[in-house]
Amino acid sequence: MENNANLVSRIGKRVLGPGIGGALISDELIGRVQRDLLDLAYSNNWANVLVNLAASASLVGALWVLGALNLMNVIWLLVVAMVCVVRLWGGYLFHRARAVVDEMKDEEFRRWRLRYRMSAISNALMWSVIALLEIPTENNETQFLTMIVLAGMAGGATGILAPAFLVGRVYLVCLILPPAIILAVMAEPNLILSGLALVFLMVMLVTHRNNHAVLFRSFVLKHQNQALVEDLTQKNRITENWNATLETRVAQRTEELRNLVEHDALTGILNRDGIVAWFEEKKRLDATLEYAVLFIDLDRFKQINDGLSHAIGDEVLRVVSTRLGSFADDRHALGRWGGDEFLMVLAAPHEELHDLVEITITQAQKAVSAPINIVGHTLHVGFSTGVAFASGHNPGISELIHWADLAAAEVKRSGRGSVHNYDRMLLLEQERRLSVTQALRRALDADEFHIEYQPVIDAQTGRIIVYEALLRWQSALLGSVPPDEFIPIAEESALIVEIGEWCMGAACKTIQECGEVSDDTKIAINVSIRQIVMPNFAEMVARVLADTGLAADRLVLEVTESIFEKRQMNQIAKVLGKLHGMGVEIYIDDFGTGYSSLSRLHEIRMDAVKIDKSFILAMDDNARVVIEAAIQIAHRFGLRVIAEGIETKDHRCELEAMGVDAYQGYFFARPGVLPCEDQHWQISEVSNT
Ligand code: C2E
Ligand code: CA
Ligand code: CA
Repeated sequence: MENNANLVSRIGKRVLGPGIGGALISDELIGRVQRDLLDLAYSNNWANVLVNLAASASLVGALWVLGALNLMNVIWLLVVAMVCVVRLWGGYLFHRARAVVDEMKDEEFRRWRLRYRMSAISNALMWSVIALLEIPTENNETQFLTMIVLAGMAGGATGILAPAFLVGRVYLVCLILPPAIILAVMAEPNLILSGLALVFLMVMLVTHRNNHAVLFRSFVLKHQNQALVEDLTQKNRITENWNATLETRVAQRTEELRNLVEHDALTGILNRDGIVAWFEEKKRLDATLEYAVLFIDLDRFKQINDGLSHAIGDEVLRVVSTRLGSFADDRHALGRWGGDEFLMVLAAPHEELHDLVEITITQAQKAVSAPINIVGHTLHVGFSTGVAFASGHNPGISELIHWADLAAAEVKRSGRGSVHNYDRMLLLEQERRLSVTQALRRALDADEFHIEYQPVIDAQTGRIIVYEALLRWQSALLGSVPPDEFIPIAEESALIVEIGEWCMGAACKTIQECGEVSDDTKIAINVSIRQIVMPNFAEMVARVLADTGLAADRLVLEVTESIFEKRQMNQIAKVLGKLHGMGVEIYIDDFGTGYSSLSRLHEIRMDAVKIDKSFILAMDDNARVVIEAAIQIAHRFGLRVIAEGIETKDHRCELEAMGVDAYQGYFFARPGVLPCEDQHWQISEVSNT
């Protein structure tokens, strides 16, 4: 095969010319082309044989018509007919063999090619024979007749034998060369005709060569295209595979990244982003679900972390997260909020949500309370749970978490432990705060505030030395709202600045204009830190005094101990110092409840401390210690001491013995209108020691 292939490939390359031949044509490709050419040769076989047969018969017929027929001619025709039958039979066998064999083996291919060559060349030789028989004759007619038939056969052979390079050439040579030679060498040579025959042979050979080249080229192209298509399909397949792999890889990587972004590195459970993503996804998939958030705050985790080690702390967090995750299903999202705080977001239809929360808390307690054994330590971890429900409302996840966090903090405040706390109260509180804030914004304009006054009685003289102004709010929307509720809210929303200014103005005006109030009785106004730190607070006070005509030394500002907080103390000290310089008195209110300030009392200029009513109302041993110490220190700093919350005669007597300078409380008078406003107003009892 190799030799043949080389031979044909040489022919092929030669006939193909540059571009298609050469390096591009492999021997394997040549082999395929050869097989194609053989197939084509065999399929042309029928036509070739029949033309041969017809031409031979016609020639013999013509000779007979011309009366030149001899025995040799008849024998010749019979032999030709036999060769043709053999060729047809061979062609038939080839087609039968090819019908069952897709690709011929080398051996087989060579055998069939040889058969083809032999049979076709036998046919060609028969024409040489007839040329030998007829050309040298004296009869010009038969001579020409034979030449015409041979020429016609040669012309047809250039096309019909184009698939068979070698056979075609041999065939043409067998057809034309013998008569050309005979014409030249016979007794009466016909050199012109011989020459013409040779030229004709040359032309036929070139034509055949070209035809073969075209065929060869087209088969090469066919195979190259096939290979290309196969290649492309394969590449496509590979690309598809590759694309598919790429897609999976991208998806995988995205998932990994998502995991990284949405999961807690330490415990592997969701982190804040993961919780939010879970919540959003759940909401998107099923809008009917309602949510609850459990805020799980480990108790005394700091002790484990600091006391044992951070590594053990980490392990505890991992164990807790695994245990919490052990019973979670697709209705739960378990996440770590930070530090020792875990979150469980629960999603369920409205009617199932409360049960799910109950069950989850029980399961969580059961799972987490089991002792944790880590490197020789047996640890018991408890937790406080805050619960926030979103049923009926439509809060965002962060709001829910915030509420649950507040609820958990509430559990901690009221004694930590595995107590869970629904946030109902907090929720109501939240709503209440919201409506209070909204109503507060309109309260001043709606003239819903008024002031009640409570006297402060001098312990020595029994006289009213000060009236404390206590703000009252009768809201059209919410009814009477106590100051302990609305003042902190007003402070939060900065509404206190406006409200405080109004209160100060109204109280100063009332006291100034009230004829029943002695000229040396002062008016005490409660002032929030938020007001004092406002720029121009002192100017505001001065303006109120100027507007109402009240003397500065008749005004008292009650401030809480929080003024001693380092952050703002300097600024506050400056403002209060300025006011004090104007003659305004400064009292420290609710003394003993807040910032430990006994040692700092001298840092801000002031006049009196008001011991918080909680000590007086309790009046146990502890309270007595605090009251006595406060009196001692205050006196040492040159400050007067006022006791508030005096409800009984016993309170008053005891405080008198302790050396309190003044009293305030229900025992003397409840806050109310001033005598000038209401004639029935009176102090229940005034000490006259
Ligand atoms: P506070 O300054 O400590 O006011 C004294 C509170 O104790 C008043 O409560 C008063 O009614 C109450 N009280 C007086 N005597 C007794 C008593 O014998 N027993 C008991 N149990 N309570 C007594 P009120 O009026 O509810 O005021 C609560 C708080 O609201 C005040 O506490 C004060 O901190 C704040 N507040 C009131 N008005 C204003 C204001 O105009 N501005 C600011 N910033 N705060 C105000
Ligand atoms: Ca007060
Ligand atoms: Ca007070």
